[in-house]
Amino acid sequence: LYDGPRTAEILRKRSEFLSPSLSYLYKKPLNVVQGKMQYLYDEDGKRYLDAFAGIATVCCGHGHPEVVQAIVNQLGRIQHSTVFYLNHAIVDYAEILASKMPGDLKVVFFTNSGTEANELALMMARLYSGCHDIISIRNGYHGNAAGTMGATAQSIWKFNVIQSGVHHALNPDQYRGIFGSEGEKYATDVQEIIDFGTSGRVAAFISEAIQGVGGIMELAPGYLPAVYKTIKKAGGLCIADEVQSGFGRTGSHFWGFESHGVIPDIVTMAKGIGNGIPIGAVVTTPEIAEVLTRRNYYNTFGGNPVCTAGAHAVLKVIEKEKLQENAFVVGSYLKDQLKKLQEKHEIIGDVRGRGLMLGVELVTDRQEKTPARAEILHILDQMKEMGVLVGKGGFHGNVFRITPPLCFTKEDAAFLIDVMDIAMSKL
Ligand code: PMP
Repeated sequence: LYDGPRTAEILRKRSEFLSPSLSYLYKKPLNVVQGKMQYLYDEDGKRYLDAFAGIATVCCGHGHPEVVQAIVNQLGRIQHSTVFYLNHAIVDYAEILASKMPGDLKVVFFTNSGTEANELALMMARLYSGCHDIISIRNGYHGNAAGTMGATAQSIWKFNVIQSGVHHALNPDQYRGIFGSEGEKYATDVQEIIDFGTSGRVAAFISEAIQGVGGIMELAPGYLPAVYKTIKKAGGLCIADEVQSGFGRTGSHFWGFESHGVIPDIVTMAKGIGNGIPIGAVVTTPEIAEVLTRRNYYNTFGGNPVCTAGAHAVLKVIEKEKLQENAFVVGSYLKDQLKKLQEKHEIIGDVRGRGLMLGVELVTDRQEKTPARAEILHILDQMKEMGVLVGKGGFHGNVFRITPPLCFTKEDAAFLIDVMDIAMSKL
């Protein structure tokens, strides 16, 4: 039983010593004291089914024994900076990670977060192309440092920083977008940005395959192939931000971009890569990687032995436990059940996503698509009381984000559906 500090004490210290910008999801905040696979436990020992996994961060399951063992073993041997000395953990992991990539993508740079990975990717694209302009998609999220905050395109995540050379293209949003599911029509906006907003040459295009923070928005089919062609013609590189959609989460493919039939020039990743430990990566081609030899470049902890040993174990577990297949099977079942729930509850405006990256958008009026902002908070709290945790996101804050650990079972999915059904029925 847990006998550590409890909610009231933590809240008091948080308000005194931590950033005032920190928030929490529930009216009565949850003090999570332990995690085991797809479950979390609070200070009273109550068990919750975790269908959010810390924003798709935990992929194999909380405290997966093989991942923990790999981390502890490495920590017992050596933990160090990656600068100046050799260690096998980083090269062994880079080799196996590169084997998961298509095309000539085989040079890996390690970072400590998704933000760092995207900052590096944007800089490499600028160096390689000799251009400055970057195009990202409205409603996307790419990080919170100066460059990535510029590429992020939702006002709630942006401060008044200088956003030099970043353009935000029309979101190929199949639910609210003006062209419905016609991806190629949205793609013409990227050509127009290049024609009217740049010299005609650009450094890069960056996008998620499924917008996570933006509310599990799947890019309209046909969009990415058309945009990639446009960008290449303008001398730019295509960057796939796989921070949320990578590592088998989308079920049908290992990487989110693969379901769009494109091969990026640079792929960035974080979150699920380490099952919760801080590691990120940028993978690119040897030709593009060359740009970083023009100056000194290093990252003190990027690719450190402990994090790469942990991430290596994560990849092994994904394969051994067939977690991608599980994401496909359980995710397809869960999506079907959510669609059935949509027939029953008017408040569900849209169900979308792939594998175990699903979104449920709540509206008070299906015709007007009026965001059900207050209602979603109420349902979220009710579901928590019944022992199920889901996330929330989207520009209007009215989308449930369902991104559980990939060990989520059909029984877990059925339980989530029952709980969501009860909470919606009680509205
Ligand atoms: N890209 C995407 C798609 C993300 O969802 C996030 C985090 N929500 C980031 C980048 C930034 O990652 P981090 O918070 O690790 O810096």
